[in-house]
Amino acid sequence: MEILKSTYSRIILKKGKTQSLERFHPWVFSGAIQKIEGPVNEGDVVEIFDNKGDYIATGHYQIGSITVRVLSFEQKEINEHFWQEKIADAIALRKKIGLWDKENTNMFRLVHGEGDYMPGLIVDLYDRLAVLQCHSIGYFPIRQLLAKHLLEASDGRIQAVYDKSKHTLPHKAELGAENSYLIGEKVEWKALENGMIFTVDPEGGQKTGFFVDQRENRQWVKHYAQGREVLNMFSYTGGFSIAALQGNALRVDSVDSSAPAIEALQKHVLLNFGSVVPHQSYAEDAFKFLQGKRDVYDMIILDPPAFAKHHRVLNKALQGYRNLNLKAMSQIRKGGILFTFSCSQVVSKDDFRRSIFSAAALAKRKARILQQLSQPADHPINIYHPEGEYLKGLVLEII
Ligand code: SAH
Repeated sequence: MEILKSTYSRIILKKGKTQSLERFHPWVFSGAIQKIEGPVNEGDVVEIFDNKGDYIATGHYQIGSITVRVLSFEQKEINEHFWQEKIADAIALRKKIGLWDKENTNMFRLVHGEGDYMPGLIVDLYDRLAVLQCHSIGYFPIRQLLAKHLLEASDGRIQAVYDKSKHTLPHKAELGAENSYLIGEKVEWKALENGMIFTVDPEGGQKTGFFVDQRENRQWVKHYAQGREVLNMFSYTGGFSIAALQGNALRVDSVDSSAPAIEALQKHVLLNFGSVVPHQSYAEDAFKFLQGKRDVYDMIILDPPAFAKHHRVLNKALQGYRNLNLKAMSQIRKGGILFTFSCSQVVSKDDFRRSIFSAAALAKRKARILQQLSQPADHPINIYHPEGEYLKGLVLEII
C-alpha cells in the first residue's frame, strides 16, 4: 500500500457548506459533499475544494457522518516530515505546560486528537511506554511511522510504543487491526501521578490503561478529603481513592462494577500506603450500592462512564446524570461535598449543569457550586472545535 502520496483526490463541497471550515472547524460532514473527484479509499488523504474550485483544506477521508477530518488548512503534502513536525509540536506543548519534566508525574496525554491538530489520534505516555490509539482510519497505515517519530522525538524517553486501536477503528472497514507493540515490548515502568504510584495496564485496562484526564481534579479531591468519609463511585483503579487517602480522609469506600479494576485498586492502596489504611472496595453496581446509604458519607465522587456517545441519546443521558446525582444528593450528609463529572462529549457544560440543577431540586437539597472543573492542558481544546471540551465537573456543597 502506498501510504504517503503527493497527489490527492478532491472532495468538492456543496454551495453554502463551506462556512464551518472557513472558521477552521476540522470536520467535513457527509451532507456537505457535492462530489468526489478521483479514486478514494478510506484513510486516504484528500483535498477539499469549494464548488468554484478554490482550495479549503486537506484531511483524512473516511466513510461515515464525519467524512473528512482536517489535517491542514494550507495546501501541502502530507508526508513523513509533516507527521514528524506534528509530533514534535505535541511534545513541545507538553514541555511548555511543564509536564514533560514534571517531578513525580510521568504519565499524561501526549497527543489529544483535534486539540493537537491530529484529529482522530490519541497517544498517552506512561513513563517509557507510549500507547497509541487510532480513532480514524487514516492513521492505521502510518502507525509504524508515527511510532518511529514518537520514539525519535522523545529525547530517549520513549522505549516502547503499543498500538491499541483494535476497538477504536471502525469495524466495517475490516482492517484486521490487532493490538500490538509497534516498537519494543512490555517494559517495566512506574506510572506516577503527583507522587501517587499506579500499575497501569494498557493491554487489559480500559481506554489506554488509565484516566490521565482527571490528574488535576484528583488534587482537588485530595484538598477536600481531610477528615471526611468518602465514597468514590465508578472508581476504576482508584485514582480518586488514593488521592482522598493522601488527603487524610477518615475513610474511603470505592465502588466499580469491574472486578479487575477493583483488584488493581487494592494493589494501588498497598503500593501507596501499606496495609493499614481506612479503605474498602466493592466490585458492585454503583446504583445498587447507594441504596440504603443515607447519611453515611460526607464526600461523594461520581465519575461515571460516558452516558451518551451520540446526540440521538442525549436526552436519555441527561436523565441518567440527573438520576445518579439525585441518588447521591439524597444520600450525602448535610454539609457534604459532591464531586460530579461527565465525560460525554455530546453533553455540554450547560446541559450537564441543568441536569445537576434538576437533581438538586428533586432531592430538595440546597446546593452551591464551589468549583467548576474541566480537563487539563495536556487535553487542549482547539477553540474552533468546541466538541473537544468533553470533561466537565462540579464541586458542590450539599446542605
Ligand atoms: N474515576 C475513574 C475513572 C472512571 S471510568 C478514575 O479516576 O480512574 C468509569 C468506570 O465506571 C469504569 O471503571 C467502569 O468499570 C465503571 N462502571 C461502569 N458502569 C458501572 C456501574 N453501573 N456501577 C459501577 N461501576 C461502573
